[in-house]
Amino acid sequence: MELDSLYQEVILDHYKSPKHKGLSEQKDIQVHHNNPSCGDEVTLNLLMSGQIVKEISWDGIGCSISMASASVMSELLIGKSYQEAIKILDAFVELMQSKGQSVGDENLLEDGVAFAGVSKFPARIKCALLGWMAFKDASAQVMA
Ligand code: ZN
Repeated sequence: MELDSLYQEVILDHYKSPKHKGLSEQKDIQVHHNNPSCGDEVTLNLLMSGQIVKEISWDGIGCSISMASASVMSELLIGKSYQEAIKILDAFVELMQSKGQSVGDENLLEDGVAFAGVSKFPARIKCALLGWMAFKDASAQVMA
């Protein structure tokens, strides 16, 4: 898999120094998601404060794409309202479904645009989406 080298670096940085990795005691809910095709696993703890995403902490094992993407997701979504978080999540999902045709909205996705190239590799899209889908599941359950 070849990605733009700058983007490769962003992904490697998040992989080597993941943000919000290590499960916090504070949570409303815990979810566990895995991606059997690659062997990636993520456990995510979510704490909401009303409409605000108060804390996301996660732990997991897996490939660099899955771990880096969970790191980017947590960094982006903490402090956002539920509505904003879902808007960002939808933009990331759309980017992953773009088959390499989209560069992503950097204002919305920040480091998330580094994963744009992943959308050209169908086998890796689930890796990139794993942490995001864990957040979607957890937040939908808390906000229900
Ligand atoms: Zn993977």
